[in-house]
Amino acid sequence: MIRLAKRVAILGSTGSIGSQTLDVLDESSGFSVCGLGAGRNWETLADQAKQYSPAVVAIADPQAESQLAGQLPAGTELLTGPEAMCELVRKSAPDIVVSAVVGAAGLAPTLAAIETGATIALANKETLVCAGQIVMPAAHAAGVDLLPVDSEHAGIFQCMMSGKRSEVRRVIITSSGGALRDWSDEQAATATAADALNHPTWEMGRKITIDSATLMNKVLEVIEAHWLFDLSPEQIEVVIHPQSIIHALVEFCDGSVMAQLAKPDMKLPIAYALQYPDRPARNVAPLNLADIGSLTFKPVTGRNARAVNLAYEIIRHGGACGAVLNAANEAAVEAFLTGRIKFGKIVDFVETTLKKWLDEHSHARKKADFSEESVTLPDLLAADAWARQQVLALMPQ
Ligand code: MG
Repeated sequence: MIRLAKRVAILGSTGSIGSQTLDVLDESSGFSVCGLGAGRNWETLADQAKQYSPAVVAIADPQAESQLAGQLPAGTELLTGPEAMCELVRKSAPDIVVSAVVGAAGLAPTLAAIETGATIALANKETLVCAGQIVMPAAHAAGVDLLPVDSEHAGIFQCMMSGKRSEVRRVIITSSGGALRDWSDEQAATATAADALNHPTWEMGRKITIDSATLMNKVLEVIEAHWLFDLSPEQIEVVIHPQSIIHALVEFCDGSVMAQLAKPDMKLPIAYALQYPDRPARNVAPLNLADIGSLTFKPVTGRNARAVNLAYEIIRHGGACGAVLNAANEAAVEAFLTGRIKFGKIVDFVETTLKKWLDEHSHARKKADFSEESVTLPDLLAADAWARQQVLALMPQ
């Protein structure tokens, strides 16, 4: 029997997850690349297009169109502008869409991908943080699998197979502690971008590496786990695990705890999502526990606990809170990376923005603000825009 190659579209193909996805596809058989989308890095996108000859490429930055147009192989269609990624998923007829755009910008293309009925390999956690109440029902209605390409959630997904969903008592997500793990709260307050980008165990993009240092990455991941696995805040715990060998644990109702272990390598969750439900062999060195020696754990304390607690607050309040938190964090990280605010201000700004939103909206008691059923995509996009404005207003002039 001839098996047709599975068509893969990668949104965010020039970023860390996108380029590692192409590496995984190079090592695998049975796939073809049908679409590649990027934000503004047209040079890397042109190189990728020459190598994989996708049917469609998309670049969000309209200014990159003229440079990219002359570089593409014959037969590859070029789309540009803010709608380009959504059009790419509609036009390239993918079986699998790897959603790896950074930030809330990944929301619209992910929803467009769900509408096509393609399997979604979801590396864009901001999509669920911002709009889990819209994305999850849309995926269920379309009968689409949303497979996590986040090491902790891929770990939870695999551990959950050891029992029935109703037998799960809680999950534990691990955190390396990020680049500033051993810094005091006072030292960390004035850390530079270079300090915060120096991650001890994972090689990742800039935004997520800063999120790891502030622990906002765990905030996003707790909310992501809530949506993906339908867990209450009480069922999701975070623990610091500096070695990044155990990615997640699932505790069942009889007290048995399953853990997923592997060396830190995003290609593992990427390959697992692409091949699911199969688990083809990969050429990786065995995990040598005797060499690793010890796996250690610490509670989340101090500035990190202050950050992680935001996740539980967001889940309890619901509505557009996730969109507010995510947008405030994106704006604050951008301000930090461009040298406009100190490291310690990132979580401060997120907290202040969220508090203002809750103050204003709990007085108004508008139903749509807090009810998951009635919140709409325009409500969430408005909350996102509002939060970005708030962060701008907090910025030193
Ligand atoms: Mg993760």
